[in-house]
Amino acid sequence: MRRTRIARATWPQPSNGPHRVACHFCDTLHEAPAVPEGTAARCRRCGVVLYQNRPASLVRTTAFSLASLVLIGITHSFPFLVMKSNGLQTELSLYRAAHELIREGSVVIGCGVGVFTTVAPLVMAVGLLYVNAPLLWGRAAPGARVVARWTAHTEPWNMTEVFLLGVLVSLMKLGSMAELVFGVGFWAFAGLMVCMAAAVAGIDRNELWDRLEVADE
Ligand SMILES: [Zn+2]
Repeated sequence: MRRTRIARATWPQPSNGPHRVACHFCDTLHEAPAVPEGTAARCRRCGVVLYQNRPASLVRTTAFSLASLVLIGITHSFPFLVMKSNGLQTELSLYRAAHELIREGSVVIGCGVGVFTTVAPLVMAVGLLYVNAPLLWGRAAPGARVVARWTAHTEPWNMTEVFLLGVLVSLMKLGSMAELVFGVGFWAFAGLMVCMAAAVAGIDRNELWDRLEVADE
C-alpha cells in the first residue's frame, strides 16, 4: 500500500541500492548508505562531510521556502528605507532603487540589483517549494528533477547577503547627510536572507535525489 501521509520518515533508500558519492576534496569514491537522522557521513580518507541526514528535512525546506515567498512579497510592498532631510521625507523601495539606477544610466547595476535581490530568490523559493512540497506526500511533481537541477544552478546567483552588506556600507556614508530609518521592507529582506539560507540548507542534495528516485519507483 502506498503511503500518503506526510513524510516525516527518515531518508529513504532507492531499491537499486545506495548510490556513490565522491569526496569534493580528495576524490575518493564511497558507497553512500543511509545514516541515522541528525548525523553526517564523512570521507574515510580526509574526514570531510560528504552528506548529512538532516532532521525533518522536507518539512523544514518547504516551510522556509514558503516563508521566503511571503517575505519577498512584504519586501516589495513596503518601503526599504525612509530618508528624512530638511523636513523632506523620501521613501525608497527595492523596485524604485533598481528603476532609478537604470534611469540614471547604470543599467548593469540596476539590472543586477533586480536579478540578485528579487529574481534569483524568487526562482529558488518557487523551485524548492515545487520540488519539496509534493515529496511530503511521497510524490514527485512533473519535471521535478529538471526544476531541482535549475534551482541548484540559481543558488550562486542568490546574493541577498551581499546586497544587504552593500546597503549597510552605503548607509554609513549617507548617515551624515540625512536621517535614515529602516522600513518594513528592509527587515523583511533581512528575514528573507535568513529564510533562504535555512531553506537551501534544510535538505541534503543527495537525500533530495534519493527521495525523487523513490517517489518515481
Ligand atoms: Zn576526502
